[in-house]
Amino acid sequence: SSDNKLTWSKAPCRFCGTGCAIQVATKDGQVVATHGDPKGEVNRGLSCIKGYYLAKIMYGKDRLTQPLLRKTNGVYDKNGEFTEVSWDEAFDTMASKLKKTIKEKGPEAVGMFGSGQWTVWEGYAASKFMKAGLRTNNIDPNARHCMASAVGGFMRTFGIDEPMGCYDDFEAADAFVLWGSNMAEMHPILWTRITDRRLSHPHVNVSVLSTYEHRSTDLADSTLIFKPQTDLIIANYIANYIIENDAINWDFVNKHVNFREGETDIGYGLRDTHPLQKAAKNPNSGKSFAIEFERFKEFVKPYNLEYAAKESGVSESRLLSLAKIYADPKIKVMSLWTMGVNQHTRGVWMNNLLYNLHLLTGKISEPGNSPFSLTGQPSACGTAREVGTFSHRLPADLVVANPEHRKIAEKIWKLPEGTIPAKNGAHAVQHNRMLKDGDINFYWSMVNNNLQAAPNLMEEGLPGYRNPDNFIVVSDAYPTVTCEAADLVLPAAMWVEKEGAFGNAERRTQFWYQLVNAPGNAKSDLWQIVEFSKRLALKDVWDSEFLAANPELKDKTVYDILYANGKVDKYPLEQINPKYENFEAKAFGNYIQKGLFEEYAEFGRGHGHDLAFFEQYHLERGLRWPVVDGKETRWRFKEGSDPYVKKGADFQFYGKPDNKAVIFALPYEPPAESPDEEFDLWLSTGRVLEHWHSGSMTRRVPELHKAVPNAVCFMHPQDAQSRGLRRGDEIEVISRRGKIKTRVETRGRNKPPVGLVFVPWFDASQLINKCTLDATDPLSKQTDYKKCAIKIVKV
Ligand code: SF4
Repeated sequence: SSDNKLTWSKAPCRFCGTGCAIQVATKDGQVVATHGDPKGEVNRGLSCIKGYYLAKIMYGKDRLTQPLLRKTNGVYDKNGEFTEVSWDEAFDTMASKLKKTIKEKGPEAVGMFGSGQWTVWEGYAASKFMKAGLRTNNIDPNARHCMASAVGGFMRTFGIDEPMGCYDDFEAADAFVLWGSNMAEMHPILWTRITDRRLSHPHVNVSVLSTYEHRSTDLADSTLIFKPQTDLIIANYIANYIIENDAINWDFVNKHVNFREGETDIGYGLRDTHPLQKAAKNPNSGKSFAIEFERFKEFVKPYNLEYAAKESGVSESRLLSLAKIYADPKIKVMSLWTMGVNQHTRGVWMNNLLYNLHLLTGKISEPGNSPFSLTGQPSACGTAREVGTFSHRLPADLVVANPEHRKIAEKIWKLPEGTIPAKNGAHAVQHNRMLKDGDINFYWSMVNNNLQAAPNLMEEGLPGYRNPDNFIVVSDAYPTVTCEAADLVLPAAMWVEKEGAFGNAERRTQFWYQLVNAPGNAKSDLWQIVEFSKRLALKDVWDSEFLAANPELKDKTVYDILYANGKVDKYPLEQINPKYENFEAKAFGNYIQKGLFEEYAEFGRGHGHDLAFFEQYHLERGLRWPVVDGKETRWRFKEGSDPYVKKGADFQFYGKPDNKAVIFALPYEPPAESPDEEFDLWLSTGRVLEHWHSGSMTRRVPELHKAVPNAVCFMHPQDAQSRGLRRGDEIEVISRRGKIKTRVETRGRNKPPVGLVFVPWFDASQLINKCTLDATDPLSKQTDYKKCAIKIVKV
């Protein structure tokens, strides 16, 4: 503005799944400052260091502002130089490559990779573009590497996704138990709430279970460093302790719980394990059936204190103290977990086993009693999960493999029955394998940096991107290693350069307006998907038989499919708040964000996933679904709090047909790869407070970059000494799959035990995912980034 004043507006932070409310100052068309929003219920005016520097992530010197196509002598060439092209040329090239791929191999040779950093309507449009527009389910988000096991856990135990509790539990719990989570760095604002509670209430206990010590263990009353993968044993031991010490809440269990044994398919399809993975020891693998409590009791009996201590390496006294916390009916327990549990070859099982503890004791769905699966990305819940961008899902927990679910989606989308393919699409790790094998030839990656993030990069990642048969499109705000491997790079608008919505870890949906314009010709992912869809005539991308059976669609395009419901273009531009820009809406002549949102909300309203009406979110600091009659829900499944629970029912786990949650008997299973004589150390990977994911944004903020400029290999001084290494020495970290150069760090924030090293993955100059293993959980297909075998050699 010319009067030199700042204009302040609200937006959620664009980084982690905490979902802090931020106040954003703009001046002269630029974001110039941000601070935690005092009206934000999540963060109450605070923000972490990443949130504090949000304004700067948009103004890195090398922002992408024009599409770039690899060319030699003016024509596309896989090995050519990146050359600036117009959007028209970019989209025309994409359209011709996509049509050729479909003509030669069908829609299954097309893939899309998105993220939990898409806005709600971007993810919804992307999913509809692929599943209905191109008639392939080969779309997956990077949330597959992050939250897929959590989804599997929820669906198996409760039949409905996402936590029953909320952040209000932080102020009501007496004990916090962190399972494979370093909240102090990964969810720092939520950690301030735990710290507050612990320091102001001396009776409160904090226990941290991890494979190495980190910043969260600083606050812990009890730290339990366990051998990788033995969390399965510890959880079963606690269940056994609860039973043996008569601490079961029988009233709750008798009314609200069933017991089951064995695996159940979570709608994904058949198991496919990595060759290194050993078969499950469970004799009932692949099947699931109801069992009596006595059978469950017998199942967990071998997981006694002595066995658990021996296998996990945790002392008997610490294990016992933890078990007592769960077993004591007077102690309200909040269990919290993230990647240590989810990135696990038995991540779904681990989620189920943690729910077991809360269900056996009835410590669930009420203030302070809360099994809480934390999310990594800002809209892992709101977009990746709720909208259904996973290759096996549709909105509101529907799955593509279920014919009834497909019919519901086709009805809402007003499309012919049979439009959505029945077969699950390929998951993230499969995408890379299919690209490498030439089974996917057209691939579009948005809001993620797959070639830094994917496991086993050199064997499974890079070869696929550089396969001469493949055309790779990458939409991003900054050049990344993934962009470098692409054929076409599309410049993306970010955060408040577009109107958006995210859903955080406590089911809170938050909206923001477009506050500034994107630089140059950068455009939002929504604009890119919708604009590109105009170039795709159905006669070029649908199989002719299906099109012939639906003659009313013969002259239509994929764009028409996105709009077929009649809702997307229902809301006129006049409904846009005149105070704010709305580039995409103006480009399409209607309030497209509102149209997509209201159409999407039809899936969940009346089915336990109710979202409020569009305008309400622009007025509030978010609302937790289900939102019924304009009111949010804090504790689901609990009478008086959740409008879906009948009067007199007390609890109703209504995701299951009989309203009962499931306690699963699930065994220990060894990891896919363990250290041996040659590869003699465990490698665990993860993040650091200062950098978001692959660092493509935060490393462009000078303050954050200087704070943590490079990744290092955190290791125990004894491991360093026994290899003749000193702090700062240059080393190679080598696995069976690849190697990187880094430096030894024997001090600092992460303190691994002897036998394990930790390397963060934010540093593009040290691609630690060259070393990681692409073994996935057989149920969720989520990758285990937390354990593989490596060796260290001095350079
Ligand atoms: Fe809050 Fe996470 Fe953003 Fe930090 S990164 S301000 S904790 S949402």
